[in-house]
Formats: sequence, C-alpha cells, structure tokens
Amino acid sequence: MRRLIVFLMGALAMSTQAIAQDAGDAPRWTLVIHGGAGVIERAGMTPEREASIRTSLSGALEAGATVLREGGAALDAVEAVVRVLEDDPQFNAGRGAVFTYEGTIEHDAAIMDGATRGAGAVTGTSHTRHPITLARRVMEESPHVFLRGLGADQFSVEQGLEQVPNEWFHTPERRRQLDEMLAREAQGLSAYDVDLKYGTVGAVALDQNGNVAAATSTGGLTGKRWGRIGDSPIIGAGTYADDRACAVSATGAGEYFIRLAVAHEICAQLRFRFAEEIEAAQASVPLDGEGNPTYIVHASEFELTDAQVQEVVDGVIAELGALGGTGGVIVATPDGYGGYSFNTPGMYRGMVSSEREAGVAIYGDE
Ligand code: ASP
Repeated sequence: MRRLIVFLMGALAMSTQAIAQDAGDAPRWTLVIHGGAGVIERAGMTPEREASIRTSLSGALEAGATVLREGGAALDAVEAVVRVLEDDPQFNAGRGAVFTYEGTIEHDAAIMDGATRGAGAVTGTSHTRHPITLARRVMEESPHVFLRGLGADQFSVEQGLEQVPNEWFHTPERRRQLDEMLAREAQGLSAYDVDLKYGTVGAVALDQNGNVAAATSTGGLTGKRWGRIGDSPIIGAGTYADDRACAVSATGAGEYFIRLAVAHEICAQLRFRFAEEIEAAQASVPLDGEGNPTYIVHASEFELTDAQVQEVVDGVIAELGALGGTGGVIVATPDGYGGYSFNTPGMYRGMVSSEREAGVAIYGDE
C-alpha cells in the first residue's frame, strides 16, 4: 500500500517527503547513548578523566552495537548499554549514583519498547545492582508500569535480580559532592547540584526490524530529598519510545523535562509532522461502495529527513531552555535518524549505526 500512497502523492505532487523504501534496502540500525549533560567544559577536565570517559562511552556503545549488528532487538541493545554504564562509577547511575540528602543512594530507571509501547519503570530502589533490568522486569513480568521504593525492591528480590548492599553504590567523589552541597546549604548559599553536571545514562536504538526502544537510568540529583522523583523514570518525560515516531532518553534538570513531557512531546511532534500531507493523501484514496476509504493513510508512509527531525528535537529543547531548563536528549527514529540536542556546555554521548562508524563526544563544539 505504501506504493499506492507514493503513487498518489507523486500524481498529486503534494510532497517530496514521501519516500518509498525499496524492498531490497539493507536493514538499518542505529544506536545513540548518553552519560549525562551539564557544565562539562575542557577547563574542568583532566586529560586522564576525559580519556577515561571516552573509553567508557565507547565500551558501552559497543555493547549495544554488538546486539544490533547481529540483528538483535533494540530493547536488548538499550538495556545492554545501560547495564554497562550502571556499573561504571563515573556516571550517575547504578554504582557511582549521586547521594540523597540523607546520604543514601536511590535509583530511578525506565525502559520502553516502541514496537508494543510496553513500558516499565522504578523509582527509589536501593539494592538492585542493575535498575534498568528491574524496569524491564516490571514491563515484562508484572501487570504494572511503575513501581516505587520498598515494593520495587521486593519485586526485584522476587525476580531473582542481583542484590547488593546500598554501600556498594557509594563512591568518594559523590560523597564529596554531597558534602560540598551540605556545606553550601549551611552557609545559606544555593545548594542544589551546584556544579550542574547531570550524569544520568541512557540509550535509544533502532533495530534491523524497524523497532525502536529507549532506556534511562539515574541516581537523580545530588541531595534530593522528600522522595523527589526526576524525569528519568517517568514515561513520557525522560524516556519514551513509539515505532510510529521515535525513541528518546533525556538528561538534565528533571523538573523541567517533566513539565514539558519532553520525550513524549518530541515523539508526538514527529508523529504529527505530516498531518496536513496525510489528510491530503487520505482525501485522494478511493472510497468503497459504502463511502468508506479503501485505505487509511498512516504517518509511517512519510519519511522524515534528518534535518526535519533535528528541527523538531532542537525546537523542544529550545522550549525547555525558554522555561529555564537545562539538559539534553538523544533520539532515534524508525527512518534511521540518530542524534541529539542539548543546551548545556557539554553532554557525554556516543553514536553508531549501520552506516556510520562509532564515535563519542563530550563537549558542545565536537
Ligand atoms: N534528569 C535527572 C533527574 O532530574 C538528572 C540527570 O540527568 O542526571 O533526576
């Protein structure tokens, strides 16, 4: 039917954006990852630390690329990436997550499958080594989408996932950041995440079957209290995937991402990007004897160019910035776009696809 629409579109010269995918096209795959955005600048980085971050990002990227290259599912790829980064103490997820005000670690994570729009998320877990895998279990093994705190910890045990003492997640650098924050607070200074480095991790992927998926995992913000929950585990805010549009994982000041429902907003804007063209194409579809259309035109008939996707993604991040929010997103679409947008000086990130060699970057000018 795609050919029918393309024919109709061509005949009516309505758009140059509708592109038929030849049946013989090699299946494409894409993977984009992030390790957080923020005030990440060359001046504040040692060569050793920079090299170490790049090596870590490359390793995580390869963990996901291996899955996709071999024809595996986007869902498996994003989980594989995030598990690697959760174990890496340099990022604010799993081991190395930031401390709460009380000096404990409480993780948030979410995963979403664009093929089914199935989703799973957890918040405030304290003992699961890989919160992203727990989120996936919530999606696949429970009747729910979102579990919190003790209940999520209990479900994790029941699922037989690896448990570790909360201290296992602690690192001296994160302790120092909390102490610094508390000292500033004691002086009456603004204390909240003073260095504005969000080390949340995430991945989005397109697999060879045309499915997209997204995963995000974090410790939240340094010194979070009163049960604060950020955007990362909230489906539609920091994490979203829909095969009809895209997959998104965010990092940044979670409160703003929640208010704009950033991940869903990007997907929705992409999904309805061709609303007028779809309406016009639908109007040209022949009707059956009862006056009903013989074919329903779908948004997936239209292939967005990378530039069009980028425009939408940048637009949502600009809107975030206009509210005062900082951070960024990574995005993958079923058409093969892989990219990102952020309004902070840097974002730890990496990208690889069937057409493009693996590359990692840190600063905004790379
Ligand atoms: N977005 C996360 C949160 O607000 C923080 C981060 O990106 O590091 O919890």
